[in-house]
Amino acid sequence: MTQCFVKIPDDFSGYPIDQFCIPKHYEQDLESVIIPKGFVLDRTERIARDIFESLDQSKPTAALCVLKGGYQFFNDLLHYLRQLNANSNKSCQLSIDFIRLKSYTDDQSTGNVKVIGGDDLSHLSGKNVLVVEDIIDTGRTMTKLLAILNQYNPHSIKVASLLVKRTKLSCGYRPDYIGFEIPDKFLIGYALDFNEYFRDLNHICVINEEGKAKYGS
Ligand code: 5GP
Repeated sequence: MTQCFVKIPDDFSGYPIDQFCIPKHYEQDLESVIIPKGFVLDRTERIARDIFESLDQSKPTAALCVLKGGYQFFNDLLHYLRQLNANSNKSCQLSIDFIRLKSYTDDQSTGNVKVIGGDDLSHLSGKNVLVVEDIIDTGRTMTKLLAILNQYNPHSIKVASLLVKRTKLSCGYRPDYIGFEIPDKFLIGYALDFNEYFRDLNHICVINEEGKAKYGS
C-alpha cells in the first residue's frame, strides 16, 4: 500500500498563537500552532474513508484506542467511521477497546514501555484489530504493543497514527495509516500531553521553553 500523508516541512514555523482560540492558562507556554484542529478533523475524515474502503467486512473489527494521547483522534476517527458505516452499501461491525501505555517523562522517551491498564485483550482473538495511536516517534512503543497484541492471535492488525515524527531515532516502524508527518519537535494539544498538561488544548502546538520549565518534573 502506498502511504499517503500530509507532510509538515521542517522549516514550517507554525501559526501565531494569537490567531487562534487558546486557553488563557496556556497562552505563555506555546511557541506556535502547528496543526489547527479543523485541519486535523479534515484529515481524519479522509483517513476514516481510506480505512473503511479497505476494511475486511467478513469479520468484526476491534478498534483499540491507545490511551491517553490517542483518545481525541480515536473519538473523531470513530465518528467518521460510524457515519460511513451508516451511509454506505457495505458496513463493518465495530467494537471499541482501550489500552493504556506509558513511555515518556517530560519530553523524553524512557525507552521503557509499560502497559499500565486497559481492557482484557483476549477477545481480540480472530478479529481484525485497528490500533489508533496519537503519535509515532521512535516507533518503539508501537513495536512493543504489536508484539503484545499478536499474542492474542488477532486475524489482522492495522495501525492508524495521527502523527509520525521524522526523527533519526526512528526504529523504522511505519503505521498503515498516517495523518501527518511532522518535524522532530515535541507537540502538545488535541489530547497530546506534557506531563499530563495540555490535553485540554484543541490545536496541535509546539511547547516553548517557558512551558517546559513550568510543567516539567
Ligand atoms: P515512541 O515509542 O514512538 O518513541 O513514542 C510513542 C509515544 O511517546 C507516544 O504514544 C506518545 O505518548 C509519546 N510521544 C512521542 N513524541 C511525542 C510528542 O511530540 N508529544 C507528545 N505529547 N507525546 C509524544
